[in-house]
Amino acid sequence: MSQEHGRLMDHLTALLAASHLPVRREAAGRLAQLELVAEERRLRRADAGAPAPSLLFLSLTTRCGLACLHCSSAEYPRGVDLADEVADRTLTEAEELGIFICGLTGGEPLLHPGFFDLVARHDRQLLLLFTNGLLIDSEVADRLAALPHVLPILGIEGTEAVNDRLRGPGATRGVRESMKLLRARGIPFGFAATARPANLPDLLGVQFYLELMNAGARFAILLDCLPIGRAATSCQTLAPADRARLSQHLAELRRRSGAFIAYVPGDERGEGGCQAAADLLHVNALGQVEPCPFLHVSASAEPAPLEGALCSKLFDEIRRRAGMPDGAAPVPCFYLENRALLGDLVEVTGACETDPALRGFRPAENAAPAGK
Ligand code: SF4
Repeated sequence: MSQEHGRLMDHLTALLAASHLPVRREAAGRLAQLELVAEERRLRRADAGAPAPSLLFLSLTTRCGLACLHCSSAEYPRGVDLADEVADRTLTEAEELGIFICGLTGGEPLLHPGFFDLVARHDRQLLLLFTNGLLIDSEVADRLAALPHVLPILGIEGTEAVNDRLRGPGATRGVRESMKLLRARGIPFGFAATARPANLPDLLGVQFYLELMNAGARFAILLDCLPIGRAATSCQTLAPADRARLSQHLAELRRRSGAFIAYVPGDERGEGGCQAAADLLHVNALGQVEPCPFLHVSASAEPAPLEGALCSKLFDEIRRRAGMPDGAAPVPCFYLENRALLGDLVEVTGACETDPALRGFRPAENAAPAGK
């Protein structure tokens, strides 16, 4: 488990343990025990020379009520919900592999018709609900209050004017209402923002963080905007100098406030770079297993078990290539910033592009089956 993932997990279980609600404190104790079991499973796998990721992202749907400019999942086929049996199998297999933290994403995961039944069945892992927050009303908040292993992370890009411009009019008012509902029920939550030039002034300030921490947010995840999905055509990525400024600013904010603010993949750079296919993986809403939520390639065009994907030629090759190419400028993702590298990866491994916007390097139907 990367140090970053370890810090995140420690922070989240500490949040639960500090809750004034017995149901959350009890859950904190139970989850801490389960994490130890998961860690043992990862260590056994690592000892056997097998890939031992600690973090899974599971996209439950490509449906969403918003059309954010930075949306990395916007180019997947529209209106697709992950099959319940694939979602169940994936979370069960993840637990067996020792993956304790699972991020539920989309699209908007709360739009998946089986969301609450699924998360209730899988209460032996810490489930992070990446949501735009606009579907959280009193009833949804009550249901989340009964699921202490589910921690919401609400998407918000900046102060009101900036966020409404990037996520749509009224998005800020809606997400703030949701924060009030969660706070009133003692549900710890965090927020996530995608860093790009359009919201950099807010992210380099203090007001944005102060407002959200005062609204009850207990942690934050900042994601570098990556040229994938809608962002590939409608968003700019940060210049290297701006990424360095943001990294320094966040380090200073952490030092002065003690707040938990992760910067992805910026912080990974201090831990040997890209964690894709090694410490994390992603299953998209079609059930295809990808090395990372932003690298839309897969060993198979079909839904596949995690183990097969982890041991596939694609994942092996990504792990073999991990770390920046010699002399390369530090970029958030060298595959997305250097399509020739991505094309070569696809060519060498026989992988398929799961995102239509990436196609053109190799027809999906020629994709090698998982593990071959
Ligand atoms: S970024 Fe999230 S909230 Fe925005 S359009 Fe994409 S899935 Fe929806």
